[in-house]
Amino acid sequence: MNCIKLRKKLHQHPELSNSEVGTAARLVEYLTPLAPDHIITGIGGTGVAVCFGDGATGSTVMLRCELDALAITETNTFDYRSITAGISHKCGHDGHMAILAAVAQYYAKNRLEKGRLILLFQPAEETGEGAKKVLEDKIAQQFKPDFVFALHNAPKYPMGGVLIKTGTICCASRGVIIRLTGKTAHAAQPETGNSPTKAVYQLLPLFEQLPMLINSQSDFTFATVVGVKLGEKSFGTSPSEAEIYVTLRSEHNNEMKRLVDIVNDKVIELAIQHKLAYSIESEDVFDATVNHEAAVEIITSALSEEPVHLTPDPFPWSEDFGQFTKLYCGALFGLGAGEDTPALHNSDYDFPDQLIETGSRYFIKITEHCFNIKPPET
Ligand SMILES: [Zn+2]
Ligand SMILES: [Zn+2]
Repeated sequence: MNCIKLRKKLHQHPELSNSEVGTAARLVEYLTPLAPDHIITGIGGTGVAVCFGDGATGSTVMLRCELDALAITETNTFDYRSITAGISHKCGHDGHMAILAAVAQYYAKNRLEKGRLILLFQPAEETGEGAKKVLEDKIAQQFKPDFVFALHNAPKYPMGGVLIKTGTICCASRGVIIRLTGKTAHAAQPETGNSPTKAVYQLLPLFEQLPMLINSQSDFTFATVVGVKLGEKSFGTSPSEAEIYVTLRSEHNNEMKRLVDIVNDKVIELAIQHKLAYSIESEDVFDATVNHEAAVEIITSALSEEPVHLTPDPFPWSEDFGQFTKLYCGALFGLGAGEDTPALHNSDYDFPDQLIETGSRYFIKITEHCFNIKPPET
């Protein structure tokens, strides 16, 4: 089976974050005949690491891809469409896995004489949990890579182009759930209860003002209200419960902290003012993915004959690969997926197969370059 067939098989059998058992098993089945030096399973949950070389001399390079799909119903009708109701690969992680499988095929034929290459198939990227879980894993902690790299396909950009920058390449984001609780009353006598309605009215405008309140200079620092729930369709009842779901986004981690502080302070202030109980929780927390200058230089040098574009702006979306670049010299780059390709997370999105060859070629060039330079000081 070639890597395009592997991609289609993975596409057909998508699994949600932290449940990628079948996906991991399919990868192990595909990669075992390539006889890497080690295959380690169960990393940070369902993660798989495939190692070439013993690392006795030379650098250790880690390439990382993601295992998980999304809770989106696929609207494509091709024969390899998802067979799992309500779940599909709409971020192209099937393609990213196939790219690393193609890299594994290359190093199965071109065995390393020095250095070590680790291909990490990471679980639960979409929820922001997977990278942290992998890095808490005792076995993964022994990898100690000198360099870490990842790519993400980027629809709406020319096919095969590399998009890269030093500093933030993917923004920080955080889902915030605000709950306000008062007391129900008859709708004819709302004054006998305590409705959170006024507090909701007062809170909502805050989210638009947030970038201004922290004096942010970045176009990528903003809040998106993704849901508001207040009471029920029950015309005799003044409500007691409200929930607001808001996604905070920022180019820099320090700005995210300030956004969170302002939201927390305002919720507490309004809860006291209106005598409401409150809770504030966070989900899907992603730090910014910050690229190291030295790693970006490696990419631009290794891919000097390829269409590399230094982009001034980060991608507005988030990636948990930032957990790796916090610890190790590394970078994530965007891989243009074509101007006409549907956007990531669209129900009709599908990973362009031609990028499997392109992405693996880029990764091999970057890996080879790393083996030929001095590792960074640690
Ligand atoms: Zn995604
Ligand atoms: Zn993704």
